[in-house]
Amino acid sequence: MSRKVAVVAVGGNSLIKDSQHQTVPDQWDAARETGKHIARMIAQGWDVVLTHGNGPQVGFILRRSELAAHELHEVPLDSCVADTQGAIGYMFQQVLMNEFRKMNMYKPVATVVTQVLVDRSDPAFQNPTKPIGSFMDEATARRRQAEGWHVIEDAGRGWRRVVASPKPLEILEQDVIKTMVDAGIIVIAVGGGGIPVIRNEQGDLQGIAAVIDKDLASSLLARNIKADLFLISTAVEKVALNFGQPNQVWLDHMTLAEAKAYMAEGHFKKGSMLPKIQAIIEYLEHGGKEALVTNPENIERALAGETGTRIVP
Ligand code: ADP
Ligand code: MG
Repeated sequence: MSRKVAVVAVGGNSLIKDSQHQTVPDQWDAARETGKHIARMIAQGWDVVLTHGNGPQVGFILRRSELAAHELHEVPLDSCVADTQGAIGYMFQQVLMNEFRKMNMYKPVATVVTQVLVDRSDPAFQNPTKPIGSFMDEATARRRQAEGWHVIEDAGRGWRRVVASPKPLEILEQDVIKTMVDAGIIVIAVGGGGIPVIRNEQGDLQGIAAVIDKDLASSLLARNIKADLFLISTAVEKVALNFGQPNQVWLDHMTLAEAKAYMAEGHFKKGSMLPKIQAIIEYLEHGGKEALVTNPENIERALAGETGTRIVP
């Protein structure tokens, strides 16, 4: 049987289970749990490109940077993303290598630090909405604003920096990733949606303070490398209609047209399930064959058609 390729986008719960389990050892435990299921999927014949979120981890780096500002230079946001791609990639590399050894199989695994091109004139830069870093008092916020930050007042809780979440246009290491996948290498890439970069006036690449949605960037990758499957692993076993309400219905299956209709009816929450469904719609509209949403513990069962929400053209 020829191997099939899946882009597997794992969510925050694959590293942080809850607010009581945030330390690095806790993150290893969570990564091990998800890694076990992904390794089994690979053993069953899937070649995987693993992508992941990094929101809390970027928050931790920024907080350390803030607390150390009296002594050390600050860490720019693009560097934070690069740092987390390395550290989280390392975790999944090691977790997968250990799982493969237990299963008496060999598969090479490597992480690709990934830059994602965005457009400087993306409208998102006119209206940054993603809060980043800690709360500040007004004086600090005003000083930072004068230095070029966008800041907002968060009803009564203080001031925060906000950055744009522009649309991912191009995955700059895509050919590298594809070459590795074709060579049978398990790749960890596009971490945190990728390091946002722009082309400056000279045409050079340059990091920019922004965050890219990891589901949208993963969708772009899945589409462009022509992955057979786009699997989104998150904190729910299935996608629901009327989520969290008494008339909630779990979905086993959606067509592209149904997904669009449910989205228009407002079933998917902004900032959580909505970007996933949008990412899946984009993937399917550009030749994608199949998408699946489930949680880490149900990955194998969902692949076998026993659970999860399957979305097809
Ligand atoms: P991730 O870190 O995986 O991106 P998010 O919290 O951003 O996780 O998004 C997943 C969450 O979306 C689920 O845990 C669930 O609470 C929420 N959600 C919102 N709308 C729905 C829906 N219609 N069906 C299922 N889950 C939903
Ligand atoms: Mg999310």
